[in-house]
Amino acid sequence: MKKYFYRVVCFLAVLLPASILFQSCVNVNQGNPPMQSSKNKVTEKIFKSDEEWKKILTPEQYQVLRQKGTDRPHTGIYDQFFVKGRYYCAACGLELFESGSKFDAGCGWPSFSEPLESGHIDEHRDLSFGMIRTEVVCSRCGGHLGHVFNDGPPPTGQRYCINSTSLIFKSEEQLLKEKSADSTDQTGVTND
Ligand SMILES: [Zn+2]
Repeated sequence: MKKYFYRVVCFLAVLLPASILFQSCVNVNQGNPPMQSSKNKVTEKIFKSDEEWKKILTPEQYQVLRQKGTDRPHTGIYDQFFVKGRYYCAACGLELFESGSKFDAGCGWPSFSEPLESGHIDEHRDLSFGMIRTEVVCSRCGGHLGHVFNDGPPPTGQRYCINSTSLIFKSEEQLLKEKSADSTDQTGVTND
């Protein structure tokens, strides 16, 4: 009988600390904040004062990109322009659109069915001029690009109506040349 009693005591002596240890491990895990995923890369923002932007941009670019201006319809250089290549933010050089998604909406402004990267464009509700519209801006510098509407072609059904003045275009040839020359310029923008 005594033997049996000691066995129970020994068993409890081993089991009890083990269960406490296990419980404390669980508590520690529960107390940890969720792991931050390194894959969730957010585009690094660029902040500049109006004076700084005025030095960098042409008066037309400043008016559209920083003052939310609009190109007059059918006047922008990229309206009836269908060369293969990529479109970049004229202010900060972020890649925004590809020629493959460009289409002629007949509205007088360059139109795209989708951005190159959804994370490169931010959307804001725009209630100006008595209309309810969705403004699109460059996610890196906040520059005004235009608006997005739900009357685009399938499959996206979207029409990104963008000011030519907000964009800088680079042809496929130009991009290939730059790649082969292993350009050290990482901004992605040239003004020639
Ligand atoms: Zn930008």
